[in-house]
Amino acid sequence: MIYLDYSATTYPSKSVLNTFIDASISYKGNPNSSHDLGMKSKKKIEEVSNNILDILKIKNSNLIYTSGATEANNLAIKGICNANKGKHIITTMLEHSSVIAPINRLCKEGYEVSFAKLDENGLVDIDDLQTKIRKDTVLVSIVGVDSELGIRQNIEKIGKLLKEFPNCYFHVDATQLIGKTKFDFTNVDLISFSAHKFFGIKGIGALIKKQDIRLEPLLDGGLSTTKYRSGTPATELIISLEKALKVAYSNFDKKLLKLKKKNKDLKDFFKEYNDIAINNTSKSIDQIINISLSTVKSSDLIEVLNKKKIYLSSKSACSSVEALSKAVMQIYNDELRAENSIRISISYVTTTSELNKFKKIFHECYTKLGGK
Ligand code: PMP
Repeated sequence: MIYLDYSATTYPSKSVLNTFIDASISYKGNPNSSHDLGMKSKKKIEEVSNNILDILKIKNSNLIYTSGATEANNLAIKGICNANKGKHIITTMLEHSSVIAPINRLCKEGYEVSFAKLDENGLVDIDDLQTKIRKDTVLVSIVGVDSELGIRQNIEKIGKLLKEFPNCYFHVDATQLIGKTKFDFTNVDLISFSAHKFFGIKGIGALIKKQDIRLEPLLDGGLSTTKYRSGTPATELIISLEKALKVAYSNFDKKLLKLKKKNKDLKDFFKEYNDIAINNTSKSIDQIINISLSTVKSSDLIEVLNKKKIYLSSKSACSSVEALSKAVMQIYNDELRAENSIRISISYVTTTSELNKFKKIFHECYTKLGGK
């Protein structure tokens, strides 16, 4: 098989799975228990949390472990709005459904939402964002890298602007950003991410929030290692998350360099076809290649490739197959293009031999379906 859907999920790496097994054996106690076994697990979680914050270069913050980024996004958005004054939220049209859905729910409860204007590269227009901030704006939630076009927002510049508005909190959905790019989270108040996007195990993610920010928990329950998320902390998943993050950022520049070459190779290949348009902008990360077909239905091609054991997506894994690509529509305002997009997502583990095989099979299948 050739797996080209790494932005939907990465399979857990062997070293992460081994870490999970070792941790399950070594840390048997419930971190919420007060006996020695419980304290051992609790201490380990504290150590691991400090390491994670160090890798991400984040200071003075709480790490709240969640089941993944969907929960972290819900906790950030509902938690901020329910614990602080304000009735207005600003976001973008590139957000994942786990950001849009909680905002929609809040709108039903009386909140108003504004969408920041995007420039031709899909970047948030900072001047427009500034004009949209109101006295009652409590939250700006912006996706660090969107899952369809891979546009990497300038969160550093947005953070600097928002620092001047102390009653407005800045949340970044960093699910497609952490493990894939470099960043500076200094001026970000809340950061969501998920381990299964960087070879970690599914079912563990986190919300990182600055210490002094008020946040209402999503779940009612007992005391835990953090008051923001009740329940028994998943010690072995947390330890495996740290391992995945460490691996993701080791030899990072080398990995990025390899990805740059593979991205160029694939884009050069697609440029040879007259009826294929590349949808990425100059601000897209190298791991995501997004194309639109004009003479072949993308769903037909994906189906044929699936039969050949080549796995890729039309849009993001969480959007419905029939829907237009919101991201492509936003940038190109072209329904046909937005209807017929394909996302190929690669990783540093993608080999040249896999890509050569992919190109060969893609050409055969595409031309058979009538592509030129
Ligand atoms: N945000 C973005 C940008 C994503 O790509 C995803 C996963 N597709 C999520 C949030 C949700 O992550 P999870 O599957 O961990 O809930």
